[in-house]
Amino acid sequence: MNNRKTKIISTLGPATDSPEKIRELIEAGANIFRLNMSHASHPWTREVVDRIRTQSGGCGISVATLIDLQGPSIRTGDVEGKLQLSRGDTVEFRNADLEPSTEVSVTTNYHELHEDVSVGDVMLVDNGEIHFEIRRIDPGRLICEVLTDGEMGSRRHINLPGIRVNLPPLTKKDMLDLEIAAELQVDFIAISFVRDAEHIRFLREQLAEKDCHARIVAKIEDQEAVKNLSEIILESDAVMVARGDLGIEVHIEELPVVQRAILKEAARIGRKVIVATHMLESMVENPVPTRAEVTDVANAVYEQADAVMLSGETSVGQYPVKCIDVLDRIARRMEREPGAGFSRGIELRTEKQHTVKSAVVLANSLKDSKIIVFTARGVLANYAAHQRPDHSPIYAFSPDEGVIRALHMNRGVFPFEMEFAELPEDSIRKAIDFLKGKEKIESGDPVVILSDVLGGAFDTDAILLRRA
Ligand code: PEP
Repeated sequence: MNNRKTKIISTLGPATDSPEKIRELIEAGANIFRLNMSHASHPWTREVVDRIRTQSGGCGISVATLIDLQGPSIRTGDVEGKLQLSRGDTVEFRNADLEPSTEVSVTTNYHELHEDVSVGDVMLVDNGEIHFEIRRIDPGRLICEVLTDGEMGSRRHINLPGIRVNLPPLTKKDMLDLEIAAELQVDFIAISFVRDAEHIRFLREQLAEKDCHARIVAKIEDQEAVKNLSEIILESDAVMVARGDLGIEVHIEELPVVQRAILKEAARIGRKVIVATHMLESMVENPVPTRAEVTDVANAVYEQADAVMLSGETSVGQYPVKCIDVLDRIARRMEREPGAGFSRGIELRTEKQHTVKSAVVLANSLKDSKIIVFTARGVLANYAAHQRPDHSPIYAFSPDEGVIRALHMNRGVFPFEMEFAELPEDSIRKAIDFLKGKEKIESGDPVVILSDVLGGAFDTDAILLRRA
């Protein structure tokens, strides 16, 4: 079967954390498994990462793991049962160490909230469902008016669209979750509610201290991140269009515009992009997607995202394997159509990137061409993927298993582990024979070979054209 260029990220949860389900998801085409630390305990994380690796080894299909940190989200505290709120009601949001001063009063976990907001600001609670306007601010307290009727339970998420909050980049819980990410040497760490590039630098320092080699995924989920988009993308290894929160933080009609802006900017700078959330939401309960969902997934493939992500669909949904199958089918079909071509605007900052560009231009000009990259750290393969070759798959070979797993996020890259031979020529032969054996290359196909690591004629960045 043809290669699918767009990668699939599947969130694991109670519906899919058994060895059998993980195996089914891998065989259906999941490339990366996401563990959402908002819901994961450490023993569960250890167990599930072990199961992923065992199942991946068992069926001989390499996959990567991603730990998604909860991040500094603002939440309400516990309430008894559910509060029935009507338009015009008054509700107090207070620090937990203060006594209530109004009849309906809830606590929040963010003690400086009153310092970040102003009278007249709108606060959204519980996935943006209940709207409040701030009427009065006292130290440690906000007195708000309910703008929309609703029911409010315990520990609901608070969004403050357009307001810069001074929360730290990582919470105590995130720091503990980083320990387990380092212990398990996961391949990617996603940072939630990143607001500027400094947050990414801080996370990178933490990872270096823990000798953790995970690549960083910046989740773009509020207006502050959108404002600082370029510098965040530049500092990260990948970005996620986290449409769950983003769809609350920006006006909903802006969401597709922001998605496209993120994809364009990532393409300009040369970074991986994930489109996430509600891709097949109706399939949590139904065996078939809506037409609108199919079109949304197709749009992400058209925009040439590196990966599309499933959340509830595979963590708690009733049809997790079907969801992978649906994404797989839509992606394969849409990849036969011309894509958006945002990478035409890519900024080439180094000579290495220019060399890769020449290889991609060469491959584009040759019918049925394939690209083979020999890559020690994945850098050349990343560059080739960011240039979005028109038709050529990128077969990446590396002796490093971690590099192979990290390359599973790149659009159009198919990575394989291989020890390099002493002579470059032998490595090239070995790679071509391997791909022929897997029916990825046919005798006579033009092969553009790209390397900076093979030694001999390849001890500097080099491009070679061969017939397989
Ligand atoms: C999102 O908000 O879209 C997202 C992916 O983040 P989370 O699932 O952690 O809320």
